[in-house]
Amino acid sequence: MELTKLRGRTYYIQAPTNVGVYRYKNGLCALIDTGLDNTTGRKLLETLEENGLKVKYILNTHAHPDHFGADNFIKENQPASIIGASPLEKVFMENSNMENIILYGAAPMPGLSTRVLKAKDTAVDIELTEGFVELGDKKFEIVPLEGHTIGQIGIVTEDGVIFCGDAFFSEDKMEKYPLPFVFDVGAHLKTLEFLLESNYDCYVISHCDGPVENPKSLIQKNIDNINENLGLITDILSQPQTREDLTELIIKKYDIPMNISQYFITITSVSAFLTFLLEKQSISMDIIDGKMYFYV
Ligand SMILES: [Zn+2]
Repeated sequence: MELTKLRGRTYYIQAPTNVGVYRYKNGLCALIDTGLDNTTGRKLLETLEENGLKVKYILNTHAHPDHFGADNFIKENQPASIIGASPLEKVFMENSNMENIILYGAAPMPGLSTRVLKAKDTAVDIELTEGFVELGDKKFEIVPLEGHTIGQIGIVTEDGVIFCGDAFFSEDKMEKYPLPFVFDVGAHLKTLEFLLESNYDCYVISHCDGPVENPKSLIQKNIDNINENLGLITDILSQPQTREDLTELIIKKYDIPMNISQYFITITSVSAFLTFLLEKQSISMDIIDGKMYFYV
């Protein structure tokens, strides 16, 4: 892992989940997200140590395990660090089984609680809400970026760098996962429109090699991707389908590799698209003979 400068005192460490680093003058730093697990946490601390840095703050964009899974390891090793998250994401971080509960809709079935979907419960010390938060002698702007999750936030440093979490994805990732994981399609589209109009100096997303080179064009491609998925689902629903049958057709269309976790991630995203289309009254729903059908 390597500490790479973006602008001013804002750096990042490229990893499977990129980690933002804001350097204070006194050898302390604020991290934005941490990564999946203890192994990542150990590598992260080694890299920071090589650069003479100790962690003071850990600011989480959202409660997916690949973003906060290493928080506990860092806090155990550097107990003075303070963990922050939005009020809604805090609920998921402190009760890490919640992610599986929303995916399954009840006590999760055996096989669902894999490492990728469940981190350890992580206590959150401070709630990050919209607006400016002063940490040490520096201000960070907290920007709501809901949609991918219920309460995702973006974090902007004084250098004009915004860390966007999973608010949008690289072209590579969209190719690999044509149906993105979305909790709320309407909120996600609003977030993308907001980012499209925004004017930060530098945009960092979590799963991408380096800062985003052409943010406007990439954000627009993410909007197009959501609209294509809405179109695809609407086309399929010219014949009435149950949610499970629609999910099957999407899995086959995109050739999504399957296991229990991936199945529930997929059906949850499909459900989010169905909610959006029902709200827009683009589709209807009926329950016939014990089956719930969606159709145009
Ligand atoms: Zn995520």
